[in-house]
Amino acid sequence: MTWAQRLKRVFSVDIEVCGSCGGSLKVIACIEDQDIIDRILAHLREKEQDVPAGLLLVPPTRVPPATLSLFAGSDPKSVRTLLKNAWHELLRTLVQE
Ligand SMILES: [Zn+2]
Repeated sequence: MTWAQRLKRVFSVDIEVCGSCGGSLKVIACIEDQDIIDRILAHLREKEQDVPAGLLLVPPTRVPPATLSLFAGSDPKSVRTLLKNAWHELLRTLVQE
């Protein structure tokens, strides 16, 4: 059983399906360095404080309006939401380049 399958089974987090658009996702990297994780989370928290809730953080030409927000979900401050959205953005960036 892969760790992705374990995440799905134990925490009901399916990292192979995009939570925003339902598209399929593929694991291309795993960040384990705590310093890098802390920097990513700090950056996302800074962005969360700078931008009014509900404002889209990606150009509207990239996704339909109101389908992708860094603050989507019922608990915008949860690490799970932050990581999920960060992961989605990273994958979108890598796929488009
Ligand atoms: Zn998506």
